[in-house]
Amino acid sequence: RPVIGVLALQGDVREHLTALAALGAEPVAIRRPAELAAVSGVVLPGGESTTIAKLADRSGLLEPLRAAVRGGLPAYGSCAGMILLADRILDAPPDQETIGGLDVTVRRNAFGRQVDSFESEVDLGLAGGPLHAVFIRAPWVEEAGDGVQVLGRVVGGDADGRIVAVRQGNLVATSFHPELTGDRRVHALFVDIVRAAPAQQAGLVAGTEED
Ligand code: GLN
Repeated sequence: RPVIGVLALQGDVREHLTALAALGAEPVAIRRPAELAAVSGVVLPGGESTTIAKLADRSGLLEPLRAAVRGGLPAYGSCAGMILLADRILDAPPDQETIGGLDVTVRRNAFGRQVDSFESEVDLGLAGGPLHAVFIRAPWVEEAGDGVQVLGRVVGGDADGRIVAVRQGNLVATSFHPELTGDRRVHALFVDIVRAAPAQQAGLVAGTEED
């Protein structure tokens, strides 16, 4: 059973823990740097990215997370988690930090103030057809680098064609919240990535234990 951490500083942590457990992974909540050492993948939940980034900084997790992701630790970010994985962010406070790793520019709260939340079908090319996606004050990917695989786009409406799901190597991010719908296919994709990833980053992450 792959041990997968969920960054548990703020946001919908419990829903991710439940989804991972349902897929046969062993989910653990991560609140301190030492807890990162034990995981072979990490989920960054939905919530408020400004708050999560601040808390991660204060709890000494920001640098270890950056080092772990740089070292190849698989990571999946939903919504606020997508913002945290982005190398570049727009419409964020100037001092907002990210973990980075994904060569994308992400715009926060991109869908506009009047549509705080909405639901839509998004085709990720997964077996079983399009996925029912829940967007809550969601970001979108405004620009993706050459190495980034676009997994899904919005179809129809004002945001037609906007990128809402991406993958780059062991990193996956979605603008929406599959943890809220009971459709486990995105988490299953991530668990497969974790299972296939070499354990080579464990030593690197373990180095943070002395902090
Ligand atoms: N708007 C939030 C942010 O910028 C993300 C919302 C969410 O995760 N549902 O972090």
